[in-house]
Amino acid sequence: MRTAILAGGKGTRIGSMYPELPKPMFPMLGKPLLQWHIEQLKAQGLLDITLIVGYKSEAVTSHFGNGKGFGVNISYITEDQPLGTGGALPLLPKEETLLLLGDVYYDVDFREFLKFHKEKEALITLFAHPNSHPHDSDIVVVDKESRVIAWKSKKDKERGDLRNLVNAGLYAFSPEALPREAATVKDLEKDIVFPLVSSGKVFARRTVEYAKDMGTPTRIASVACDIESGVTSTRSHEAKRKAVFIDRDGTINIEDGFLTDPEKLKLLPGAAEAIKLLNGSPYLAICITNQPVIARGEVTFERLDQIHARLDTLLGYEGAYLDDLFFCPHHPHKGFEGEVLEYKIECNCRKPKPGLILEAARIHGIDLSQSYMIGDRLTDVKAGEAAGCTPLGIGLEPFEPGIRMYKSLLDAVSDILKIDNSGKNA
Ligand SMILES: [Mg+2]
Ligand SMILES: [Zn+2]
Repeated sequence: MRTAILAGGKGTRIGSMYPELPKPMFPMLGKPLLQWHIEQLKAQGLLDITLIVGYKSEAVTSHFGNGKGFGVNISYITEDQPLGTGGALPLLPKEETLLLLGDVYYDVDFREFLKFHKEKEALITLFAHPNSHPHDSDIVVVDKESRVIAWKSKKDKERGDLRNLVNAGLYAFSPEALPREAATVKDLEKDIVFPLVSSGKVFARRTVEYAKDMGTPTRIASVACDIESGVTSTRSHEAKRKAVFIDRDGTINIEDGFLTDPEKLKLLPGAAEAIKLLNGSPYLAICITNQPVIARGEVTFERLDQIHARLDTLLGYEGAYLDDLFFCPHHPHKGFEGEVLEYKIECNCRKPKPGLILEAARIHGIDLSQSYMIGDRLTDVKAGEAAGCTPLGIGLEPFEPGIRMYKSLLDAVSDILKIDNSGKNA
């Protein structure tokens, strides 16, 4: 078991801010970017590290040496000329390898990531998550088992609406997936990962953990800000996370009968802004929605996925994303034309039952007592209460006494964040 870190970056995007340093040695909150990686790995017992260095490599080797001073064992692969992101991989020993990028900040449970990789018997596992600019990103398409089935380039103008899922730049490689022939490999994605997608053994692990690019001065500053404000650590595996659960129809998008056509989905004013505010806060933004249209036979799972791809796309244009989305496909009453009998059941997930919220809490490790449920119906509020969250209503008339009401999702979210801040300052 080895961890390799690509640390040969020239830092051209950062220009001349630190002309004497290679990018991985740029300082953030008082230490080099690369040192953040080394300390995380050490804390998780991943002690055997290979640094792939090139441009101004002596700055790296003189700082880290053989790693003893940092409690780890460091070896080096030095590229005399840049070999591309995949070029040094054939030089790695053929063993299970975790690969990190030197200019991405991770607050990730690497051991859980590797466990997932083993359980799936994957050749390659990558870490995927939604980001704030999916239209400007390559998108990973996965099936229900988290297997990568397609990779849609941002340059593909015809790719249509897709769920917001982006490769964050963290990989696990089985020994047999590491390339042997140096001459044929230049680019990590194009030459190593893509060709293996068709084998059905490339998987994407999606979590709400923090992983963000630090390739420009603005991005380094934004990661530093997230570390200082606790956004990174509240998403970390060690944290008890908190969330704002959000109903879909009538809360995020305009409700106009049952939505069956992705093209008809329209966001409510301020909804994207509200979700974007949550994305920059310690709260996860998780959509919880009843979709009885499945049981009624009006919408297939594929169609519902297209509706959610449209939702992800519209939010993405405004720099916002949902950390996750859970839906109930059921409906209790039988006897309608076209219905899908297997979903015509009395389930535990249809709001006002709390099943979806409890499931989200189990998957993402959420402390419900510190979380909220926001919706435009009494059923939303009841589901939130039953799950142990603070329920907030959207609308002009109170659903019932004692429920705090707001004009819009944005008003409700702004108030949550205000309460949170005043609590912190008190
Ligand atoms: Mg609603
Ligand atoms: Zn259900």
